[in-house]
Amino acid sequence: MLEQSEIDRLREPTVPAQYNLINNKKTDGLQGQRLAVQSPIDGKVFSSIVASDKEDVDIAVRAARAAFNDGSWANSAPAYRAKVMRKWAMLIEQQALEIAVLGVRDNGTDIRTALKGEPQSCAATIRYYAEAADKLYGEIAPTADTTLGLIHREAVGVVGLIVPWNFPLMIGAWKLGPALAAGNSVVLKPSESASLTLLKIAELAVQAGMPAGVLNVVTGLGEQCGKALGLHMDVDVLAFTGSGGVGRCLMEYAAQSNMKRLYLELGGKSANIIFADAANLERVAKETAASIFRNSGQVCVAASRVIVQESIKEQLIEKVLTYAKELSVGDPLDMCNNTGSIANEAQLQVIDQKVKQGLAEGAKLLLGGEKILQQSGGYYYAPTIFSEVTPKMSLAQEEIFGPVLSILSFETMEQAIEIANSTVYGLSSVVWTANLSRAHKMVKALNAGVVQVNCYSGADQTVPLGGVKQSGNGVDRSLHAIDKYINLKTAWISLDPQ
Ligand code: NAD
Repeated sequence: MLEQSEIDRLREPTVPAQYNLINNKKTDGLQGQRLAVQSPIDGKVFSSIVASDKEDVDIAVRAARAAFNDGSWANSAPAYRAKVMRKWAMLIEQQALEIAVLGVRDNGTDIRTALKGEPQSCAATIRYYAEAADKLYGEIAPTADTTLGLIHREAVGVVGLIVPWNFPLMIGAWKLGPALAAGNSVVLKPSESASLTLLKIAELAVQAGMPAGVLNVVTGLGEQCGKALGLHMDVDVLAFTGSGGVGRCLMEYAAQSNMKRLYLELGGKSANIIFADAANLERVAKETAASIFRNSGQVCVAASRVIVQESIKEQLIEKVLTYAKELSVGDPLDMCNNTGSIANEAQLQVIDQKVKQGLAEGAKLLLGGEKILQQSGGYYYAPTIFSEVTPKMSLAQEEIFGPVLSILSFETMEQAIEIANSTVYGLSSVVWTANLSRAHKMVKALNAGVVQVNCYSGADQTVPLGGVKQSGNGVDRSLHAIDKYINLKTAWISLDPQ
C-alpha cells in the first residue's frame, strides 16, 4: 500500500545533474550547455539536463547506427531480445515508487496517477512487446510451384523517438517497446519538461543487458535537439507524440532531409456524447469530471467537450459540478490531493489565455477560470467548467490541454454526430447510451481513432491508440504498432532455374 512517509522519504532536496545516455555511457554535451530542471510543484530548480545540440544528436545517431550494423541486437535471436526486455521491465517495477516520485517532481502529475500510469504501465508495455519479440513470423506467398515468394519482416534501422511531457514513460514505452522488440536501435528525445524518468529507465535498460548503442537518450530543447533529430539524414523512422504544430515541423524536416518515415500522435478535442437514456447519470457525471480533470486535463484523450442531450443538460451539469468541486488540487506528492500541477509555466499561461478567450466569446463560466495556489511558486489551475458553448467557439474547437471542460448540447442523434465531428481532430470520443443499436451507429459515425461506449479510459495496450484527421497517423499500442518499426522485404525465388 502507498504510504505518505515513503513518498516523503524519496522527495530529497536535489537530484544530481543528469547526462545523456549514449553507447551505454553517461555523456555530457560537447558544448557543456545545460538546462535547469524546475519543478512545477513549487517552481524551484532541483536538477539540470544536457541542452544537446546538433553535434550531440549526431553522436547518438552514429552510435545507434553502429549498434544496428554490428548486429548484437538487430541480428540476435528474438528470444534473447525478449529476455533482456523482460528483465528491464522487472527492474522498472522494482523501483516503481522511486521513479514515480522523480517523475512527479518533474511534471506535476499526482502520485497515484503517476505510479500506475508511468512506471507500472511502462513495465507492462515493455513486457507485452518482449513477449511479442519471438512471435513475429514472416510469410510465404501463395505462388505457383515454380516460385517461392517469401515476405521478411526486417527492422528498419535507426528509429528516432520524440515524446511529450505528459506521461513520458507510458508514451515512451508505447514506442520503445515495439521498436526495440523488432530489433531496431533507438535515439529518444524526451520533453525538456519531463526527461528525468526516461533517463532513469534507460539506465535500467543497461543494467538489464541492453547492448551499447541500442538505446540512446538525448535531452534538450525541441527547437535544437528535436529539430536535429528530425533533420538527421541517418534516421530511418521518426515516431512523435506531441502537438500538431510540432508535427507539421517534423513533416517539413522529413521532406528537407532524407524523407524519413514519420508517425504522428497529435492532439485532440475529444467529444463526450451523453444521451438522455444513459444508464446511470451519477456514474456518467463522475467519469465526465475524471475524464477532463485527471492530470489537470493534460491527457491527449481528455474528453474536453461534453455534448449532452438537451433534456438532461441541467441535471448533468449539476452533478458534474458537484464532482468537480470535490477535487483537491495541490502538491501532487501529497496523497490528500487527487490533482496536481500544470507541467510548466508556459502551459499555465496558454490555459489562462484560452479561458479568457472563451469568456470574451460569450461562454458562461460555471466554475474556476483562474490560476490558483500561486503562493506555492508552482503552476496550478482551478478545475474550470463552461456552459453555453457553441460549436464554432474556440472552447469547442481548440485543444487547451488543461482542466477546462466545455459543455454543448443537442436534440437529435444527427446533431450530436455533426457537432462531434466538427473539429479538425479525431483522436478519441465517448458515447453514453443504453440503446445498443444507437451505440453501434455512433461508433460507425464518429470520426475518431477510438470510441468508448459507456466508459471512459478502460482501454489497455492490447488495443491500438491512434488518431484520424489532424490527430495523427499510425497507432501506438497493440501488435499493430510493430508495423511502424519494420520493413517488409520480398524474396522472389525461382524454383526452376533452367
Ligand atoms: P510539444 O509538441 O510542444 O512537444 C513534444 C515534443 O516535441 C517535446 O519533446 C519537444 O521538445 C519536442 N519539440 C518541440 N519543438 C520541436 C521542434 N521544432 N522539432 C522537433 N521537436 C520539437 O507537445 P507537449 O506540449 O510536450 O505535449 C502536449 C501535446 O501532446 C498536446 O497537443 C497533446 O494532445 C499531445 N499528445 C498526444 C498524444 C497522443 O497519443 N495522440 C499523447 C500525449 C500528448
